[in-house]
Amino acid sequence: MTSGLTTVAYIGASILFILSLAGLSKQTTARRGNLLGMGGMVIAIVATIALALDQSERPVGVTAALIVGVLLIGALVGTWRARSVEMTQMPELIAILHSFVGAAAVLIGFNSYLTEGHDAVHLIEVFLGVFIGAVTFTGSIVAFLKLSARMKSSPLTLPGRHALNLAGLVVSLGLGAWFVAAPSVLPLILMTVIALAIGFHLVAAIGGGDMPVVVSMLNSYSGWAAAAAGFMLGNDLLIVVGALVGSSGAILSYIMCKAMNRKFLAVILGGFGGDGAAPSAASEGPQGEHTEVSVAETVELLSAARSVVIAPGYGMAVAKAQYPVAELVTRLRSRGVKVRFAVHPVAGRLPGHMNVLLAEARVPYDIVLELDEINEDFADTDVVLVIGANDTVNPAALEDPGSPIAGMPVLEVWNAEQVVVFKRSMATGYAGVQNPLFFRDNTAMLFGDAKTQVEAIVAAMPATEAVDA
Ligand code: NDP
Repeated sequence: MTSGLTTVAYIGASILFILSLAGLSKQTTARRGNLLGMGGMVIAIVATIALALDQSERPVGVTAALIVGVLLIGALVGTWRARSVEMTQMPELIAILHSFVGAAAVLIGFNSYLTEGHDAVHLIEVFLGVFIGAVTFTGSIVAFLKLSARMKSSPLTLPGRHALNLAGLVVSLGLGAWFVAAPSVLPLILMTVIALAIGFHLVAAIGGGDMPVVVSMLNSYSGWAAAAAGFMLGNDLLIVVGALVGSSGAILSYIMCKAMNRKFLAVILGGFGGDGAAPSAASEGPQGEHTEVSVAETVELLSAARSVVIAPGYGMAVAKAQYPVAELVTRLRSRGVKVRFAVHPVAGRLPGHMNVLLAEARVPYDIVLELDEINEDFADTDVVLVIGANDTVNPAALEDPGSPIAGMPVLEVWNAEQVVVFKRSMATGYAGVQNPLFFRDNTAMLFGDAKTQVEAIVAAMPATEAVDA
């Protein structure tokens, strides 16, 4: 009877998860989407615990104590990390969380093989689950190490690296045939070692510029690993949730590839986006004289402007400049200036990074526009403030076919009358390529920490009442 109730609870939780994803697709409904997801997760956990207690072969008290024990440890660690993580560390946190899903799939696979029957279908489930889990595990750890700068972000390009991956895959297939024909733990262990190496090598071969796609690709892998674990455990909810995560991660990877004009297969096969890629002569070194501008001059420019666009990037996140930026927007709008944000799909270090920061600072959603929505409008814009963005506003992506970021759609800020770039130095951005924007006649550099500089501008730009007085 518990299993009947469990099925009902699982269907309810699945519906909540689907509604949650639908809610998360728009900023205005994202909060509701999160709440629905949390509701679904509570139902799922309660129903799973009830089922585990009902089917427990040990005394129920012991099973309950074990479950409560691990839940408490998980909740404590999770709460501590969620409270202490900086927004800029989110991608690496997500990457390491994916590695847990991979590790869980491997452990469940071994447990399932050692404790359950050996019919062919089950053996294939175990083999696939362990394979995907192991690739996800090491791949996610490498992504974590690269994103947290504990490992060089440039791609590892071993000679014959595609052949190595292919050989690993073929040997794993052979081991799979052996495992199904004559079940033993040896082929399973050998395949696990190979899959761990493939996961490591696959992500190590991908350079920094492609990390957004890697993070969402690993998100997708972790979903498939969870779905495989669901098959092994005979848990329908895990299969549904795994498939939802797996397919939404795959769709996100596709969208990100489109945003960077990269072919998905080329990204997976790696070798782009770090100092390992050979930049063309034009993308190396300084490219002429740059002009500097002061806070007072920027205030003057803004005071004369009718239309202002702000293009934020990773530097705004690092400096935590979103609050003074929001204040600047309020002041400009109170003076009748048309202000909008131009958000590139891969600005920052994770999908939606800028949207989250701007929402946190209570910037109205309707003035936050995406690349496609605003790119045409730069020609009619008086001043563009580029705040800590670099690769996402690099004209070399369109003009220099030899640039490592060639073909990536970028915010065409240079079409505006005047561009002011807020950054601390002439250093390159994430992809490590020089930005010709900084040397254009209509671009001026405002050096310094983005937060300090925007605060100084806000201080020098009195609220409207004071101006009128
Ligand atoms: P970039 O990483 O290209 O550049 C950020 C700039 O911010 C730097 O040039 C830096 O210059 C400046 N900066 C850093 N700290 C500060 C500060 N305190 N004050 C002022 N400026 C600062 O940023 P973009 O957002 O334009 O591009 C994102 C890049 O990251 C792309 O290459 C993208 O592919 C990649 N990426 C994106 C992910 C995503 O999902 N969005 C995930 C992983 C990578 P300086 O040091 O001179 O101050």
